[in-house]
Amino acid sequence: MQEMGHEQLVYCHDEASGLKAMIGIHSTVLGPALGGTRMWNYKNEDEAVRDVLRLSQGMTYKAAVAGLNLGGGKAVIIGNSRTDKSEAMFKAYGRFVNSLSGKYITAEDVGTSKTDMAWIASETAHVSGLPENMGGSGDPSPVTAYGVYMGMKAGAQTVFGTNDLAGRRVLVQGIGNVGSYLIDHLISEGAKVYISDIYDPAIEALMKKYQGLTVVHPSTVAEADVDIYAPCALGGTLNSESIPLLRCSLIAGGANNQLAEESDMQRLMDRSIAYAPDFVINAGGLINVYAEIKGFNRDWAMEQTRNIYQQTLAIFEQASNDQLSTNKAAIQLAQKRLSSASS
Ligand code: NAD
Repeated sequence: MQEMGHEQLVYCHDEASGLKAMIGIHSTVLGPALGGTRMWNYKNEDEAVRDVLRLSQGMTYKAAVAGLNLGGGKAVIIGNSRTDKSEAMFKAYGRFVNSLSGKYITAEDVGTSKTDMAWIASETAHVSGLPENMGGSGDPSPVTAYGVYMGMKAGAQTVFGTNDLAGRRVLVQGIGNVGSYLIDHLISEGAKVYISDIYDPAIEALMKKYQGLTVVHPSTVAEADVDIYAPCALGGTLNSESIPLLRCSLIAGGANNQLAEESDMQRLMDRSIAYAPDFVINAGGLINVYAEIKGFNRDWAMEQTRNIYQQTLAIFEQASNDQLSTNKAAIQLAQKRLSSASS
């Protein structure tokens, strides 16, 4: 906690429901710490602690760069999301969230669903990203995808000297919620879209919707001959094995934690591959949840998300001026906002 600058780490245990959870509050300098609850079958408690510390720190940076008055937090529940869930567990967890009196606001994440959020909401008001029929802001994915699209265009402006994506070869890895909305934008602009997913029915559905898509097998994504690679599946796809194979000039996608390790940023720089930092360009979902808390509508969220274009351009420029990686430049921008807010 000291090394990464966390404020608080809460261990939660409920014997009756089997709940074992941790809530990480990295920073409340800019506002309440907001971040989803992940349910994952961690091998041990150490692994869960590391994950909650890393994820909550990432949320601080994401909110700070997006200009939101939110801090960074995240929670993890240890368990198998397919077999270990119960209403009692999420209600017990909701009471722990409530005990923090709004210092931490939760939301959905990997392994948790709308139903789980509804159970949490029965015990606390400090839950966001609820379905529209519960007064929430609904699916954040279209907003996230729009921000990724804006970030990609800013990256294209920097790398290719034009933000026009018409004719550009763009590979979208993971055509789930974010990936498929991103493809809608790319197709309307006339990009040449390549798709990859491990779930064949998703591929088939998209091939029916759009003509002219090129399908890339999941095992050959890294070596695909494209201009832009958009990781929109899981994190860690930029690593020591994939980076030497890449043929793209720009990476801009929606997945969280795309760099497997910090040193992978240097690997990308060594290969002159530009990288639009994930936590900068995938902030649309967080902006949408912020709108829900503040009582603003979807139009406001989309308008704010449009700013990701300017933010990404500024980060590329700062990185070039200061001879830094774009990831480092984005972190510095976040840290600057945090230190000016706390001094
Ligand atoms: P999703 O589950 O709807 O879609 C993910 C897709 O990736 C699925 O179709 C899955 O089959 C596919 N996939 C998984 N492994 C793959 C692989 N190895 N190769 C190719 N495809 C693979 O998830 P989502 O909501 O679209 O989120 C995608 C990513 O964006 C995640 O990393 C998520 O954390 C991040 N993100 C999402 C949001 C949001 O608003 N949904 C916001 C910020 C960040």
